[in-house]
Amino acid sequence: MNLDAYIRDIPDFPKPGIVFKDITPLLLDPAALDAAVQALAAWARPLEVDLVVAAEARGFILGGALARELGVGFVPARKPGKLPGETVSAEYILEYGVDALEMHADALEGGARVLLHDDLLATGGTARALVDLVQGRGAVVAGFGFLVELAFLEGRSKLDGIDVQTLIAYS
Ligand code: IMP
Repeated sequence: MNLDAYIRDIPDFPKPGIVFKDITPLLLDPAALDAAVQALAAWARPLEVDLVVAAEARGFILGGALARELGVGFVPARKPGKLPGETVSAEYILEYGVDALEMHADALEGGARVLLHDDLLATGGTARALVDLVQGRGAVVAGFGFLVELAFLEGRSKLDGIDVQTLIAYS
């Protein structure tokens, strides 16, 4: 199935000059949604992970489906201040300023094998923060699966040594 056909370009979002890759047409189509989840699950199954960790917010959509498909639990990594329990956090650089992702401190056992997921890999800052967060708890990043990769931004360079899978890449 050509998943690329279900990704829509939105020019000048969220600001002038940016062409936003909108995944909502793929989410809307049951066959495309299923194909995307199955493709990521087929890649991830041999990694034999204990958990899926995904980034707020769009990462939660396929991340939850992927965890269900793999028969493992799901850990949300959220923007600061959203999780009710004790948290650990990792910061990342944005074009203007700094943001962070947080996870519940007791969400990961040391040594757990974790599959990471986000919808899209751009500069790699968000992905790197997620890796740092998980590795900082002593867990093992078994792989990082994305739906879309903006390969021209070279985000993979921030994920050296990590098994990265993307279903749709734009060069
Ligand atoms: P990075 O940190 O620069 O790699 O940006 C990746 C994060 O920004 C992901 O969490 C994406 O959800 C979001 N993102 C950046 N660009 C796009 C886009 O064109 N479409 C959808 N999400 C995007």
